[in-house]
Amino acid sequence: MDASRPRRSMERRTPVWQAPRAVLDLMGDTPGKALNGWGETTERPPTVVMWARPDRLVHGRVQATMTEEFLAHPELRASLRTDDRHDPAPIAEQRCDLDPAGWVEEVTNFATGPAGESVELVGVAAIRPNWWFEGRERDYPWIIVLGVVMDHARLATAPEYTSALEVHAQYNRGTRAARALADHIRGLGYRAEGHGGPGAGPILMVPAAIEAGFGELGKHGSIINRHFGSSFRLAAVLTDAPLVASPADEFGAADFCRGCRVCTDACPPNAISPETRMVRGTRKWAVDFDRCLPYFATSYGCGICIAACPWSRPGAAPRLAANMTRKRARRLSPTGADPASPGSGRTSPPAETGDRSG
Ligand code: SF4
Ligand code: SF4
Repeated sequence: MDASRPRRSMERRTPVWQAPRAVLDLMGDTPGKALNGWGETTERPPTVVMWARPDRLVHGRVQATMTEEFLAHPELRASLRTDDRHDPAPIAEQRCDLDPAGWVEEVTNFATGPAGESVELVGVAAIRPNWWFEGRERDYPWIIVLGVVMDHARLATAPEYTSALEVHAQYNRGTRAARALADHIRGLGYRAEGHGGPGAGPILMVPAAIEAGFGELGKHGSIINRHFGSSFRLAAVLTDAPLVASPADEFGAADFCRGCRVCTDACPPNAISPETRMVRGTRKWAVDFDRCLPYFATSYGCGICIAACPWSRPGAAPRLAANMTRKRARRLSPTGADPASPGSGRTSPPAETGDRSG
């Protein structure tokens, strides 16, 4: 059987939301699918399609209209970082003498502690050239990816504005954490810069987070983590401190997606394909930007797909991951022996972080 094909019929069962003419008129002349490289068989750097200066984006008018609506809402306005200045700490002349494992321990301890906003996930990846957005390349060898968990109950109010409030709160926490960690590394004598959402930084964070052990790409285009499902947001630090990569963590989430239709049915504009696509030289799950954006822009940022994902339900992901690991072991071994549980980018057990997902 072709592993890229769904195992059973994934025909949609729910009505499809139709975008109003006014929003469609704001969409750019070039489809997002083309900008994102759908159907392209060779690798290339990604193009920035959202969360940058609107006058430089093909779909910038949609983003600008959406931003105006956010700013017109008193609570959402207060949650946005409208004054986003941060002066990086000076780089110390004396370099801290640690080996790569010691550096990973140092940055993990800082990021998961109170000075680092007590983030729930930390992982390290060696930067690949095609992660840099075109025109935004830097000369850093390492990316430290941070994950901040969302309150699932608030996330699940999407498409109400209360879901966007939670998203902004966690993006802000992730950004504070990334900047604090970058300043900490600079104080130890190495270059570092921190980035957090929702603005697009210089680099794609999702593939970096997957390599850094955060989990697997789900059909909804976000990562599924073995502890938190998809109920978290990303931030990152770029650095030349001498680090070592974290192990990737495959536990069967992508395989689970092939038999699941929850997000494809839940997505109002039908933007989540039941099949994988070739995108810039890689076959993977990919969301249809041209269908997602009109709904996303008229519903406070949406997030329905990641809230509806069974892995995101509070407490569900560890159980599902264990089930998938057992299934995989049965497939691979005639004796049905459990394989060793792989490592993950997660750095603190659930008992220590508490269930923040409501
Ligand atoms: S709802 Fe979650 S598990 Fe189901 S297909 Fe979508 S991403 Fe995969
Ligand atoms: S964010 Fe909303 S519109 Fe976009 S893919 Fe997810 S559910 Fe669909």
